[in-house]
Amino acid sequence: MHLPLLHTLASLLGCSGLYATWKSPPPPEASSTYQQRADALLSKYPVLDGHWDLPIVARFLAGDNLANFTYQDHLWGQVDIPRIKKGRVGGFWSAAYVGCNSSKEGPNFDGPTDEVRDTLEQIDLTRQLAAYFPRDVGLATTPAEHRRNLADGKVSHWIGIEGAHSLGNSLATLRMYAELGVTYVTVTHYCHNVFADSCSPPEPRHGGLSDFGRRLIIEMNRLGVAADLSHTSAATQRQVIELSAAPIFYSHSGAKSVYNHVRNIEEDVLRSLRNRDAVIGIPFVADFVRGSGNSTIDDVLEHIEHIASVIGRNKVALGSDYDGSFEFARGLEDVTTYPKLLARLLERGWSEEEVAGLASENFLRVVEKTQQVGRDLRGKGRGKKLLPDMKAWEGRKDLIPKSPPS
Ligand SMILES: [Zn+2]
Repeated sequence: MHLPLLHTLASLLGCSGLYATWKSPPPPEASSTYQQRADALLSKYPVLDGHWDLPIVARFLAGDNLANFTYQDHLWGQVDIPRIKKGRVGGFWSAAYVGCNSSKEGPNFDGPTDEVRDTLEQIDLTRQLAAYFPRDVGLATTPAEHRRNLADGKVSHWIGIEGAHSLGNSLATLRMYAELGVTYVTVTHYCHNVFADSCSPPEPRHGGLSDFGRRLIIEMNRLGVAADLSHTSAATQRQVIELSAAPIFYSHSGAKSVYNHVRNIEEDVLRSLRNRDAVIGIPFVADFVRGSGNSTIDDVLEHIEHIASVIGRNKVALGSDYDGSFEFARGLEDVTTYPKLLARLLERGWSEEEVAGLASENFLRVVEKTQQVGRDLRGKGRGKKLLPDMKAWEGRKDLIPKSPPS
């Protein structure tokens, strides 16, 4: 989710002419031979995208009930079932996104908010999609479920939560989200929260992770839920990379040395991922890629190639942020455009295995390993006192055990 969308979504719904008008000629396309190879490859390895904001669009269009939601026909935004099929998409993370609200949360983040309720409502919407469109949609919580859905001709809807403010400052909530099928939680959105600093605002609150944030990462490791580092500050990223027992996960982030946007990853952070497993989904949002009015598919290719050159082609993936913004890189305007991007990589000399990795297999490998880390840690913890408590955050005085009244 890119903030300007939320601010203007309601007023623009139903309007046409949402996309930027382009003055320059369209970017080049790969030759038909490469396009055919990309299409053939994608029929075997359909795209798994790390971040779409479909739930917020569904919520705006249909409220809390998808009975009349036209997912099978045509939807406002970049995503609907006919275009998913045309774009050879096998799955995506459906982001449960609720705006973070520092003024409601207060200085200690403990003011009551609607964040947990609204997050649950968006998880519910993603689950309703599977119930209303059972022929086309299947929920996925593991790579095995994803592959089963593919075999059944269904597109997998994975559930991610965009911002740990959605936990309502509770690790118990995290455990319950995991039970509902959440496979990643982005550690922050565009606000600092009780656990960690965001990339915005720039003045840090904790200097990275708080003590409570360190407990969050350890608990995510134990549950096998990925700690998504998109949107976080560089200090938060460095500390999670140091602390986490799981592979490092970015659902939708580019490289700062390609385009200097606060959301993109610092070069030293990228370099620190050379010797460990990781995956970075590259966004197509114009503001992050090369700036509004300037971003094209070529710039997205530059982010991909740069990150691949620093950490390896097997750690790059796709995190478009479709339905989370209005303006996307030219040539990548909606979910039908993935085959063009992958054909361009084949043309640049990427092997079919490398392109299949970028399309889906790199995300699947990292999720598999993250879930294995969770199984191992839970196995080791059998019979031991393993669950973290919430005392690290002084705001939860209500949970400190007391002696019963005599
Ligand atoms: Zn986002």
